[in-house]
Amino acid sequence: MKVTTTVLETRQLVKEWKKEGKSIGLVPTMGFLHEGHASLIARARKENDIVVVSDFVNPTQFGPNEDLEAYPRDFERDSALCESLGADLIFHPEPEEMYHDPCAFVSIDTLSETLCGKTRPIHFKGVCTVVSKLFHIVAPDRAYFGQKDAQQLAIIKKMVLDLNFDLEVIGCPIVREEDGLAKSSRNTYLSQEERKAALCLSKAVKKGQELIQAGCSAEAVLAPMRAIIEAEPLAKIDYVSMVDALTMQPVENVEKDVLVAMAVYIGKTRLIDNFSYEV
Ligand code: AMP
Repeated sequence: MKVTTTVLETRQLVKEWKKEGKSIGLVPTMGFLHEGHASLIARARKENDIVVVSDFVNPTQFGPNEDLEAYPRDFERDSALCESLGADLIFHPEPEEMYHDPCAFVSIDTLSETLCGKTRPIHFKGVCTVVSKLFHIVAPDRAYFGQKDAQQLAIIKKMVLDLNFDLEVIGCPIVREEDGLAKSSRNTYLSQEERKAALCLSKAVKKGQELIQAGCSAEAVLAPMRAIIEAEPLAKIDYVSMVDALTMQPVENVEKDVLVAMAVYIGKTRLIDNFSYEV
C-alpha cells in the first residue's frame, strides 16, 4: 500500500493506473477509522481494481466553535487498517497542501439549508469543496459514502449530478455497535455515562421505524422519537426531522421516499443518526 501526502504524487499514481485501464474507487474520510469506514473500504475493494482512501481532517467543514483541534487522529492505526483491508493508497495531505488561501469554493443551495446545515451553516460548503477537490485529484470511477451522514450523501449525489462529475456515488448502510449506537469517530469523546445516554438516538430510530411502517404521519413519528430523547437527562435535541429524501425539505406526510434524521447533543458531543423509508 502506498501513502501520498501531495496532490502531485497522487495524480502521478492515478495517471499510471488509468493508463493500465484500472478502475478506481475512492473512500473519502477524516481518519480515526472504525468499522463504519471499513465497510466502505471493503465495498470499494470488491468493486474496483484500485482503492484509494483519503485521510484528511478538513478544516473548511468545521465552524469557528467546533471541534477541529480536538478531532481524534491516529494515522498509524488508520494506515494499518487500510493495509489490512487491501487499500492501494492512502492520500494523507496536510491542510496547507489542500488549501492555499482559497477563493474558489463549491456550495449547494436548498439541500444544505435544513437539518445539519441549520446548526452548521458553513459545513456543507466545506464538504462539497473538499470532495470536489478529491474527485479532481483522484478521478475515481466510484466514490463511497456512508448513509450515517445521510444529508451529506444526498448533497454529494446532487452535486455530482448538477456539476457533471463523471463518477458513480455509492451509499453504504450505517454500521452500528452491538447495542445500536451508530459508529462514529466522535463516540470517543463520550464518558461512560454519556456512552449509555447516547443509546437514546438509536432507540428513537427504532421507534421511528416502527411508527413509519405502521403508516403514521410525520408528527406522529417524530413526537414519540423526541420523547425518547427528552427522557434522557444528558441529551439535548438539536433537531429530529422528517424530510424528502431527495430535496431535504420537511414533509408532513410520507408520500415519497423520506429521511428521518436527528442531531442530539450528549453533553458537549453532537451525535447524528437517521433512517430512510422508501414508499
Ligand atoms: P468521516 O470520517 O466521519 O468523515 O466519515 C467518512 C465516511 O465514512 C463518510 O462517508 C461517513 O458517512 C462514513 N461513515 C462514518 N461512520 C459510519 C458508520 N457508522 N456507518 C457507515 N458509514 C459511516
